[in-house]
Amino acid sequence: MSMQAWRGQLLRFDSEGRPAYDSDGLLVTRQDADGVRRVLDAGAHGAVAARHPGLPVEHLPGRLIAPGFIDMHVHYPQLDVIGSPADGLLPWLEHYTFPAEARFADPAHAAEVARFFFDELARNGVTTALAFATSHPASVDAFFTEAQRRGLRMIGGKVLQDRHSPDGVRDQTEQSLLDSEALIQRWHGQGRLGYAITPRFAPSCSDAQMHGAAELARRHPDTWIQSHVAENKDEVRWVRELYPQARSYLDVYQRFGLLRPRAVYAHCIHLDAADRLLMHETQTAAAVSPTSNLFLGSGFFDYAAAARHGMLHGLASDVGGGTSFSPFHTMLAAYYVGREGQSKPGLSLAPSQLWWQHTGGAARALGLGGVVGTLQPGSEADFVVLNPQATPLLARKTAQANSLEELLFALIVLGDDRVVEQVVGA
Ligand SMILES: [Zn+2]
Repeated sequence: MSMQAWRGQLLRFDSEGRPAYDSDGLLVTRQDADGVRRVLDAGAHGAVAARHPGLPVEHLPGRLIAPGFIDMHVHYPQLDVIGSPADGLLPWLEHYTFPAEARFADPAHAAEVARFFFDELARNGVTTALAFATSHPASVDAFFTEAQRRGLRMIGGKVLQDRHSPDGVRDQTEQSLLDSEALIQRWHGQGRLGYAITPRFAPSCSDAQMHGAAELARRHPDTWIQSHVAENKDEVRWVRELYPQARSYLDVYQRFGLLRPRAVYAHCIHLDAADRLLMHETQTAAAVSPTSNLFLGSGFFDYAAAARHGMLHGLASDVGGGTSFSPFHTMLAAYYVGREGQSKPGLSLAPSQLWWQHTGGAARALGLGGVVGTLQPGSEADFVVLNPQATPLLARKTAQANSLEELLFALIVLGDDRVVEQVVGA
């Protein structure tokens, strides 16, 4: 019962992001004492099977077994905001996002959306996410209750926003910090759940709230921090007016003490070299959100500069600014963003590199290296079973693939939720 094995094409990563591929592979898992399924062995079928004689095996002919996808930045309450037309980020927040989030004061609504959200992640092969809830504690309880029921590795937190926010989503400074502390106590470290301290973005938080968030982060060093930075030029200008003494938008967070390992900032587009160096030095990670950035016209993440400065980064849907839960759509959009060569140097990200950014690379950026995202022995066995023949064109294209890179790129360009046949969570 506690050991299980799957045979098919098998994709894994080493801890540096190098892919390993077996056209006939075997993945062997075993449940640990806590009931979490871990990878016991993986590799070429012949060699691995010989080490585990008599083990029953589920055969998945023509299917690709791969690490579950990791979404580094998503707003679960923004399900109903996807595809809302607006004139850039700030009007989009005002007209669509804040009204949608205000409904999460109702626990029944939050629970219904949380169920739909996790169904949607599963349909798309996403097994771990770092998610914003809303400013209402009930939205966080709904998120974690549902994640726990499904046994998922999920991270989330209550949004902090005590200023420049409309009635219905604006919170009270003192109460917001007490609520965050109580939610950390209730959920952080429960099974595979983790809490993220969540100042929405600098303009929406008073100095007292930012100081309080940083104090929580110091008291609970293994919690996460999640926020937004340097998404859009109007926003950057606004932050410069609010904090004339700060060197940059990112520097605002640094001054409050909100940059550290397990701190994740969405977007990171309009940064300079000093900002990127600061991210590297503090081991702060960027959640690159390409479909959102293209949709809202925010700009293009500079992959070459991020690599040059050793910035931790990985991929994210940023739903509802993002237009899809599908990791395939996100990876393709990341490829477009990488190619763009007018506002920064253009480059071609390798398909396996895009895939790494949405699995093991995202895990490493989250401080979960070796825990999920690679299918290395000892890691948690969250994985997907993909069908490279899911559509006629995909079947035709993948049949002609002569290398792993060609196979992965065909899936990235032509794939979507129809490719995801099965999701196995640890
Ligand atoms: Zn966001």
